[in-house]
Amino acid sequence: MILNISKIMKIPDATMKLSFEENINFIESKAEKIKLVSPIKFKGELISDGKMLYLNGDVNTVLELHCDRCTKPVPTSLSIRIEEKFGSYENDEEEIHIISGNEIDLTPILINAILLNIPMKVVCSEECKGICPQCGKNLNEDTCDCKEEVVDSRFAVLRTLFDSSK
Ligand SMILES: [Zn+2]
Ligand SMILES: [Zn+2]
Repeated sequence: MILNISKIMKIPDATMKLSFEENINFIESKAEKIKLVSPIKFKGELISDGKMLYLNGDVNTVLELHCDRCTKPVPTSLSIRIEEKFGSYENDEEEIHIISGNEIDLTPILINAILLNIPMKVVCSEECKGICPQCGKNLNEDTCDCKEEVVDSRFAVLRTLFDSSK
């Protein structure tokens, strides 16, 4: 979303109310491409103090993440509060987005806020049994005998040791 800020830029206390949606299908993090299953919604305001602009508001969207145990897609809602500053020159003490001309582009700021707030791990359900590390079966849909075999073979080893010590 590109905003023309010429009407509020130089006017102290001028406020621009913002409420918009952006349709973006994917965002890219370093590791992966993440699907968005709902538009990015933003509601907030941009306030001028005559020199700087202050953006605050809430970013909402729904990402399609994947279950950490079984890899099934998990729609994950995010709601993020953002506060950003815009100015015409950099400042070492705080992060300021540089304004060039009469426009600022909010899209990269919203995407960055989402990328910084992606949960590390999601699960499709707390009861998700995951995938068998041995045969690869999804244990929510199917059962396998792998676990028992592991336990059995351990018992077998113990039994052999026990028997040989007699
Ligand atoms: Zn799962
Ligand atoms: Zn298995």
